Amino acid sequence: MAYDFDLYVIGAGSGGVRSARFAAGFGAKVAVAESRYLGGTCVNVGCVPKKLLVYGAHFAEDFEQSAGFGWTLGEADFDWATLIANKDREINRLNGIYRNLLVNSGVTLHEGHATLIGPNQVEVNGQRYSAKHILIATGGWPQIPDIPGHEHAISSNEAFFLKALPKRVLVVGGGYIAVEFAGIFHGLGAETQLLYRGDLFLRGFDGAVRKHLQEELTKRGLDLQFNADIERIDKQADGSLKATLKDGRELVTDCVFYATGRRPMLDNLGLENTGVKLDKRGFIQVDEQYQSAEPSILAIGDVIGRVQLTPVALAEGMAVARRLFKPEQYRPVDYNMIPTAVFSQPSIGTVGLTEEQAREAGHAVQIFESRFRPMKLTLTDCQERTLMKLVVDAETDKVLGCHMVGPDAGEIIQGLGIALKAGATKRDFDETIGVHPTAAEEFVTMRTPVAG
Ligand code: FAD
Ligand code: NDP
Repeated sequence: MAYDFDLYVIGAGSGGVRSARFAAGFGAKVAVAESRYLGGTCVNVGCVPKKLLVYGAHFAEDFEQSAGFGWTLGEADFDWATLIANKDREINRLNGIYRNLLVNSGVTLHEGHATLIGPNQVEVNGQRYSAKHILIATGGWPQIPDIPGHEHAISSNEAFFLKALPKRVLVVGGGYIAVEFAGIFHGLGAETQLLYRGDLFLRGFDGAVRKHLQEELTKRGLDLQFNADIERIDKQADGSLKATLKDGRELVTDCVFYATGRRPMLDNLGLENTGVKLDKRGFIQVDEQYQSAEPSILAIGDVIGRVQLTPVALAEGMAVARRLFKPEQYRPVDYNMIPTAVFSQPSIGTVGLTEEQAREAGHAVQIFESRFRPMKLTLTDCQERTLMKLVVDAETDKVLGCHMVGPDAGEIIQGLGIALKAGATKRDFDETIGVHPTAAEEFVTMRTPVAG
């Protein structure tokens, strides 16, 4: 049977664009539908604008610390509208780049919402298209618990477009987005409280990292409230919001920002017209090769809920393109040793097993840890400390995990990710000459275990 396209991709985000471009490059006839914004979450309301706001927030402490190096600055003044306008200009530029990337690689772009009509058919803007393979790469969407008054709360989607910086913000959640945005709001001058329902935020990260970040954020004046959860939100006559907590306390604020996870984006996708099945958590169920229960339909990225990170969606998109159209180059995605960063202030960089995971998996471990004041801060009053930690298998000497809290942690951990992927031992770390004077050299100079 002749199809309009070899591959029809729904969603021009991180995974969809990568898959479409590579498939077209391998000679396939490819179309992509995008309903909202080219580049998807990462480019428009995720990684990129988030990192720009983190840079913006960082200046507060840079100005403060510059005094120790002899600088005298006038009164610093911050204008939110300028930051947002400049951010929007940059995102517009990136949208254009994404358009060119698709068009120049021969992909047909349909701007509109795509609905599945059947296993091989999609409808966009009233037009129907057939395709041998359909790839769902529709990403995710913020999930706010259905409490009374939830309509007064915002998510990351809205935060990027606020007209003004709120004076007071309550951030709810204890994952990546909550911690990053608490740092952004606080750094830009909002009175910020972070409420997390458990004992300590960043569940799943190494225990020492979580504790260290808690101490550092508290030192900076961020108000962290654990075992705290909102029961209802009420708008008050003066426009402020009153959050009533489950323990009966009442907090008054100007903005309640929820970062409590993301659901798969399946709205009006027409899955009911296909045999695609969802897993227990509601994400699209796929096999090892991203094939859904409907053989002609594949899915990748946040919508399958495996690892919600842009580089993972890219890798999955590439794997699908290769498997379908360049099988001789196909390599499965390796989900081990994925390095990741949380762009809190200070930032977290991590790769491999946490101490808790390593012990649970039955490894006899040696733990190496270093805490120090970064050199840049020695001429300042800032008491921030950096944490670096190695989790080593005592029997094989393999480094199982590297963890860091401190400036540029994401930049440092990328290289260590390669070392761990290559199976580096502690001896390899020890025999590597340091780069001096840097913080990163600490990773190759830790000699005495702090715990076994
Ligand atoms: P997306 O990028 O979400 O793309 C999906 C696209 O599909 C969207 O453009 C959407 O409009 C479109 N779409 C949906 N339904 C339809 C339809 N029916 N028809 C047509 N189009 C449709 N990851 C990192 O690695 N590093 C970070 O620093 C980072 N920061 C983040 C910060 C925030 C605030 C958020 C929310 C996420 C962040 N992420 C980060 C995660 C990252 O953005 C996602 O993992 C990544 O974007 C997933 O890519 P995707 O291709 O699966 O989906
Ligand atoms: P996460 O899954 O990381 O964190 C969700 C947080 O919300 C957890 O602390 C969770 O608590 C809490 N939570 C969940 N449901 C509720 C509820 N009903 N009431 C109160 N608290 C609740 O999600 P995020 O939204 O922070 O981010 C989504 C994903 O996007 C991340 O997991 C990450 O993969 C990606 N991302 C990556 C970034 C990066 O690479 N730097 C940056 C931003 C996002 P508990 O732990 O108790 O379940």
